Amino acid sequence: MTLTGLIAIYVRQNWRPYVLAALMLASVSALTVFIPRHVGRIVDGLAAGRLDSAALIGQLGWLVLAGVLIYFLRVAWRLQLFAASYRLGAQLRTRLYARLCLQGPHFFHQRGTGDLMALATNDIDAVEMASGEAMLAGFDGTLTLIMVVAMMTLGIDWRLALAALLPFPFMAFAFWRISSHIHQASKDSLEHFGRLNDHVQETLTGVRTLRALGLESRSAARLSELAESAASASLRAQRWEAAFEPAVGITLVSATVLTLGLGGTLVWQGALTIGALTAFSMYLGQLIWPMFAAGWVLSLMERRRAAWGRLQPTLDTPLSIDDHGTQSEAPVGALLLKGVTFSYPGHQALALSGIDVRLMAGHTLGVVGATGSGKSTLVRLILRQYAASEGHIRWGAHALADYTLDTLHRALSWVPQEPFLFSASVAENIGLAKARATLAEIENAARLACIDEDIARMPQGYDTPVGEKGVSLSGGQRQRVAIARALLADASLLLLDDALSAVDTQTETTILQHLQELRKASRDKTTIIVSHRLSAVRDAEHILVLKDGRIVEQGKHASLLALGGWYAAQWRYQQLQASLDAD
Ligand code: ADP
Ligand code: MG
Repeated sequence: MTLTGLIAIYVRQNWRPYVLAALMLASVSALTVFIPRHVGRIVDGLAAGRLDSAALIGQLGWLVLAGVLIYFLRVAWRLQLFAASYRLGAQLRTRLYARLCLQGPHFFHQRGTGDLMALATNDIDAVEMASGEAMLAGFDGTLTLIMVVAMMTLGIDWRLALAALLPFPFMAFAFWRISSHIHQASKDSLEHFGRLNDHVQETLTGVRTLRALGLESRSAARLSELAESAASASLRAQRWEAAFEPAVGITLVSATVLTLGLGGTLVWQGALTIGALTAFSMYLGQLIWPMFAAGWVLSLMERRRAAWGRLQPTLDTPLSIDDHGTQSEAPVGALLLKGVTFSYPGHQALALSGIDVRLMAGHTLGVVGATGSGKSTLVRLILRQYAASEGHIRWGAHALADYTLDTLHRALSWVPQEPFLFSASVAENIGLAKARATLAEIENAARLACIDEDIARMPQGYDTPVGEKGVSLSGGQRQRVAIARALLADASLLLLDDALSAVDTQTETTILQHLQELRKASRDKTTIIVSHRLSAVRDAEHILVLKDGRIVEQGKHASLLALGGWYAAQWRYQQLQASLDAD
């Protein structure tokens, strides 16, 4: 996708404001070139004594009218165009956001959040500016330039025009040099700003850790270094932009000197009237705007090119989760993993190898094992955050990869160990899982997740704001809010990845009981429970014990105990610990 292509499509879809603005600009240009010619006629009329005062006032009236019209038309075209370019910015942002939402975890490991935020703000701003104002200023400048030069050559005297325009190629050269510097400086400035943003975002997210490690001053030093370089790159771009003005000034002075020199001689010889020379020098003055427009447009274009150079690769990064599936009917039936082997992109070690498991619809699968044994990885493959390197996963009639992500996400509900709460009320955070959930349904879900009493104690009950900007909840409370959300979603497949790790054992047991009752009541609801507490999986139809990415033991609770392996030992240990805690 090229930006020109993108803008072309955009302009075609929103041609009205652009055409309207272009028409108004054409009228402005026509009126603009009318003025010097008219002034020239007045001067000649006065010199020849042909104008009496009444006629003079009449002629001046036309000038005033033209001035007023130009003013209003200029305001109007700007309004038209700002609106159009803001809409383009909004579209680009939506596009970027939609693209980012489809990316998997791998993408976000590589890209800093702060830098992505800078893309959505600064970089898109630069594209937006270039696509609205700069485009029309370019059009306006070119049109005015053509008309003014045409009036100078055809309307007045081509020899004079040739002389006056002599310095302009030098200016064009200067402009070209300046704009290449602006390009480099803006690119640096956008990149530095992205890095600065990244640093701020990381620091704010990890501020507790930084404090605990006593790294504040180092982080602050790094920040000032980044801010410094962002500022200096930005300043460098500004400084080069400032160079446009003297270039225009020098050109204009030289052109005026040439005009008056040659023009004076022509008047002397009687080849040119004073009025025509006056009109000519006024035209020269009118070239200022096209020249500034050219400089300005060039610098905006360079900024845009730099910004697009950063945006495009992000928009075009292949999705780290392929969404080539076409099946859009909800998956029904058993979940089957056959010979599933996986290593994380860029890593040699196998996070999972040779996983075979069949989970019947309506059953519960327990997954246990030490930290790093591959439990979360297994969940991520089923969520299709990653694709298996070898082997395959089937759900119901089709391979997992054959479903559209949308279909899959509708059928799945996932509660991670560290759930995410949005800046919204508790009720909204729970209700998120289901379109048009009633308050009664939300309250019921909260009761089943054993969070209802906690909510009742919050300052505004269900309306209490939580998440980033709300009251801070404990880890266990956050987990229970997330469980309530999942219960409300009532998806065909529920994946709990150590989702109750911060809740006490007693409460966990109660929640799991509610969960099982609810899911058994509506048939065919399948559940996968990953837990470090074996009590959480004891009632599961099947339990997997993972070690270093392999299944080392499997079966029901009783048979695993009888096996006398890791599970049995861990069970005894956890029972002992529970009885010690109870004392
Ligand atoms: P568990 O959930 O059982 O604690 P994980 O599935 O998170 O274990 O991890 C399994 C293995 O994969 C570990 O060796 C871990 O270091 C590795 N791993 C986990 N996440 C990533 C990742 N994003 N990139 C690379 N390796 C990873
Ligand atoms: Mg894990």
